[in-house]
Amino acid sequence: MSKTERTFIAVKPDGVQRGLVGEIIRRFENKGYKLVGLKLLKPTVEQAQQHYSDLSSKKFFGGLCEYFSSGPIVGMVWEGLGVVKGGRVLLGATNPADSLPGTIRGDLCIDVGRNVCHGSDAVESAEKEIAFWFPEGVVSYNNHSEGQIYE
Ligand code: UDP
Ligand code: MG
Repeated sequence: MSKTERTFIAVKPDGVQRGLVGEIIRRFENKGYKLVGLKLLKPTVEQAQQHYSDLSSKKFFGGLCEYFSSGPIVGMVWEGLGVVKGGRVLLGATNPADSLPGTIRGDLCIDVGRNVCHGSDAVESAEKEIAFWFPEGVVSYNNHSEGQIYE
């Protein structure tokens, strides 16, 4: 594991519409992860299909892609030690009914089809998703708190 591990996190259209962008960013900031990419964009259906291509055989795929492309999302890249797994911990389980209180999905949503956020599930898929949504690259800078966050 390295401090420069990165993950792609998105606030989905329901999260943006419900005004949860700040809340979701706050949880990643408070944890100590470093924000290195951030944009508001409205995905096309084709982009949604590409992003979720691993799920193309699932019966919910059509509805998922329609939902993901229905409005703006906030795409982010967060960096930190173990951030892929740690980001999934902050998000909670895919189905909010199984998400513990204290997690984003456990605290902020009810329905698996409107679960407010996305997070990469592995380092390899994170790299793929970051390259797909941030083809221009992310931003490198020194975090002045790094010495307080890491031993
Ligand atoms: N999803 C759904 N029904 C299901 C399973 C998943 O609508 O039975 C949606 C849900 O919004 C989820 C997304 O499809 O976040 C992607 O599914 P995945 O298994 O990758 O879950 P995630 O990685 O988002 O936790
Ligand atoms: Mg997934």
